[in-house]
Amino acid sequence: ITMLFNPLRQIADKFNVMQMGIIAAERVFDVLETDEQMTDRGTVIAPQFKGNILLKDVRFSYIHEVEVLKGISLSIPAGNTIAIVGSSGAGKSTIINLLNRFYDIDSGEIKIDNTDINAFTLASLRKQIAVVLQDVFLFSDTIFNNITLHNPTISLEQVELAAKQIGIHEFITSLPGGYDYNVKERGVMLSSGQRQLIAFLRAYVSNPSILILDEATSSIDTYSEELLQKATDYLTENRTSIIIAHRLATIVNADQIIVMDKGVIVEKGTHHELLNIEEGYYRNLYESQFKAVKEESNA
Ligand code: ADP
Ligand code: MG
Repeated sequence: ITMLFNPLRQIADKFNVMQMGIIAAERVFDVLETDEQMTDRGTVIAPQFKGNILLKDVRFSYIHEVEVLKGISLSIPAGNTIAIVGSSGAGKSTIINLLNRFYDIDSGEIKIDNTDINAFTLASLRKQIAVVLQDVFLFSDTIFNNITLHNPTISLEQVELAAKQIGIHEFITSLPGGYDYNVKERGVMLSSGQRQLIAFLRAYVSNPSILILDEATSSIDTYSEELLQKATDYLTENRTSIIIAHRLATIVNADQIIVMDKGVIVEKGTHHELLNIEEGYYRNLYESQFKAVKEESNA
């Protein structure tokens, strides 16, 4: 199958190229905010979002006539946390691509605070949405510079305060040099969980109206897992958040859980509601993860 343009991947690739040299912060903004594939039809500078998100019967295909989203409707009230689970290829990440307007939908509507997102300029839309991806890319630079990427005016004191709030200050100061630790230096390599923690802090200091987390599928060490859990709770508090969840432990408290399969929503509800569906998709998923954990601890 031919993979068409994958914007998030492409941004990651550009970052990797840039990691070879020193670049100015402005360049990063260029990469994040210009987009050769999309025409910036929007003219409205998005006001500070409250964060009500509405998808109404959204249909989308990357390739002509291969529909990836087949009529997705969901409503996220401002400040709520919703989790999306489902098999690989179900269309979860595609929803994120569409919210950021990396692609235009084929039909339906996507609205934020009751305004169609097509009305907004791309830059003003994307600036308010922080996305923490599965594989976090960090610059060959200090932790401090990696965190202040989107907001170079922020001080070390502010970064430290934020790190303390989300519970990762101790982890950072345990690295040689602390906030001056160069993330690509030889020696202590950061695990994927630790890289994700740094990306969390980066997202947190940018204070986005909407937060999106695409969780890592790969095994995360227990220590990072605990920190990530706490940081997630803190980041999502009073903020519209979408978590694409692989570890169900992170979403037990979500206001709403959406289960997707092959481009449609198959179940929707809270953790407890979904657990009560006999032979339900979520229940099966939960039981299989629970069983895996039990087998691991018995081993
Ligand atoms: P999930 O995140 O649930 O694993 P995705 O939203 O990434 O699923 O993908 C949904 C479907 O769309 C899959 O069949 C995938 O192969 C396809 N797809 C994803 N990105 C692209 C792309 N850039 N070009 C073509 N097909 C894609
Ligand atoms: Mg995905």
